[in-house]
Amino acid sequence: KVKPKPKPVETKVLPGVKNVIAVASGKGGVGKSTITSNLAVALAKAGYSVGLLDADIFGPSVPIMFQTEDARPVLEKVDGKDRIIPVEKYGVKMLSIGYFVNPDDALIWRGAMATNAIKQLINDGNWGELDYLLLDLPPGTSDIHLTLVQSISITGAVVVTTPQNVALADAVKGISMFKSKNINVPVLGLIENMAWFTPAELPENKYYIFGKDGGKTLANKLQVPLLGQIPIVQSIREGGDSGEPAALNEASIIGIAFADLAQKVV
Ligand code: ADP
Repeated sequence: KVKPKPKPVETKVLPGVKNVIAVASGKGGVGKSTITSNLAVALAKAGYSVGLLDADIFGPSVPIMFQTEDARPVLEKVDGKDRIIPVEKYGVKMLSIGYFVNPDDALIWRGAMATNAIKQLINDGNWGELDYLLLDLPPGTSDIHLTLVQSISITGAVVVTTPQNVALADAVKGISMFKSKNINVPVLGLIENMAWFTPAELPENKYYIFGKDGGKTLANKLQVPLLGQIPIVQSIREGGDSGEPAALNEASIIGIAFADLAQKVV
């Protein structure tokens, strides 16, 4: 029987990084990358030094969500070692596999190859001093998660879900994974995304398209904090597509919502 690798006490490879926060989801398409990008921007706006590692190797979205698809990070010698200089935008230092390979090529990678690529981005990235490094994890609970979580020390995990039953069922799996004995990462809480929709012409109305309070109810049941409920908003989708996360607009209702969410996460 193979003994599980002990979890390192501290992230020795990232001496300048104070906190590593993993953002996970059970199901794909629930808005994990959207939430992570906006959180990163909101944290940067709040004055923290922030890094964002796009570990969603089979569907990297960070280059699109920050409109940095054409960026090609370069290497720099630091203390005799080649380090990758992260791409910086809106005060967020980013690395994504999308900057290095065609995502279609990564699709056929085996788990070990994908994990190594992610580890390399984390360990060889010249992150400098960071208050928060956010990890946009792939959806689900794969061996990539296991290896990653065991090889770097993660301060806490956030799980994103929609209120819909199929998403909630997968969020439960995600939370169990972090709580399991050999992973043992503190769950900071659950974020309910796409919680409702309010049409512009009916500002008092909330339509619970994916069900009402699914994330809230689940958080209560599993006794994890509900960090926030984010509605379905056209500007959030548009911001993702145009590479200008909605959180950049601090004065907007959504900007305020993401700023609040960021305060709950840290
Ligand atoms: P995941 O990372 O979980 O696969 P994404 O962040 O890529 O999901 O989001 C999936 C789609 O839903 C994207 O088109 C994104 O713009 C959109 N989206 C996510 N959250 C919201 C929201 N709160 N309001 C509107 N659109 C959203």
